[in-house]
Amino acid sequence: MELASLHELYVEGLRDLYSAEHQILKALPKLHKGATNPKVKDVFATHLAQTEQQVVRLEQIFEELGMSPKGKHCKGMEGLVAEGADLLKEDANPDVLDAGLISSAQHVEHYEMAGYGTVRTYAQLLGFAKQAELLQTTLDEEQAADLILTEIALSVNVDAIVGDGEMVE
Ligand code: FE
Ligand code: ZN
Ligand code: FE
Repeated sequence: MELASLHELYVEGLRDLYSAEHQILKALPKLHKGATNPKVKDVFATHLAQTEQQVVRLEQIFEELGMSPKGKHCKGMEGLVAEGADLLKEDANPDVLDAGLISSAQHVEHYEMAGYGTVRTYAQLLGFAKQAELLQTTLDEEQAADLILTEIALSVNVDAIVGDGEMVE
């Protein structure tokens, strides 16, 4: 792989995110199924719908660039998804598992925020104003999802302290 310009690094970053989003599309239903607390389930369901739109935005950008979104596998997301899958295999108290799933999802959101912040800035520098806007929209969604997870964790983590498996809504 030759990277001769920021434009090429930009395309690589976008392809990495395209791969990452597809991995998240597969992982979120499993997190949703594994969660017990309805608030946690809700946030995963909502973010699945948002993720579908995020893929569409990336496709719009590649369309404008006249390039294919495929060709890269995001190893970072593969690792984060694998950690979530490991957690789901544990014999965990439901409240403790919910707390762990929130943490897992926040790792994913922060990884995405780093990726989208980077390509958003590259798009601005390269003069792709519309693409920068689309990427900012997704970045805002990832940040909002992270904030909601932090908020939900306030109660979910407390439920997990006792860890008696009771649901508190
Ligand atoms: Fe995303
Ligand atoms: Zn990656
Ligand atoms: Fe996300």
